[in-house]
Amino acid sequence: MKLLLTFSRKGKADPGREPVIARVVKETGVLVNVEKANIDSMAGEVLIDIPDADADLVRRRLEEMGVAVRVMENAVALDEAECVDCGACISVCPQEVFSFDEEWRLRVRSERCVLCGKCIQACPHGALSQQG
Ligand code: SF4
Ligand code: SF4
Repeated sequence: MKLLLTFSRKGKADPGREPVIARVVKETGVLVNVEKANIDSMAGEVLIDIPDADADLVRRRLEEMGVAVRVMENAVALDEAECVDCGACISVCPQEVFSFDEEWRLRVRSERCVLCGKCIQACPHGALSQQG
């Protein structure tokens, strides 16, 4: 399951400069796969992937440390009414989220998405959007 984490790193605000992900891994023993991270001196936004069975534990511990956690069920969403099966998204996606089925209709495996946004920019019909 993918979780999008956002947190402040300013001053003494929670979680401040705490190494939140390292702490969760150490305390829970859950292996966290970091798929994307934007962290600077003010704030952090990190996309992680964890086993579904550990999601409640990891989420609870992160929230206790002051991290806002959003479950990303479908990181990228397809509007099938707008899609013309042109394949532009297949070309640009670095994670092979998109493919054609045997009838040349677009198939989406959104669980592989790392929210890079390339497909949303590339789609000529505005058929793709990011969750939330
Ligand atoms: S946002 Fe990036 S990783 Fe996700 S489906 Fe689009 S191109 Fe692929
Ligand atoms: S780029 Fe847009 S219109 Fe083309 S196949 Fe992908 S989602 Fe459909």
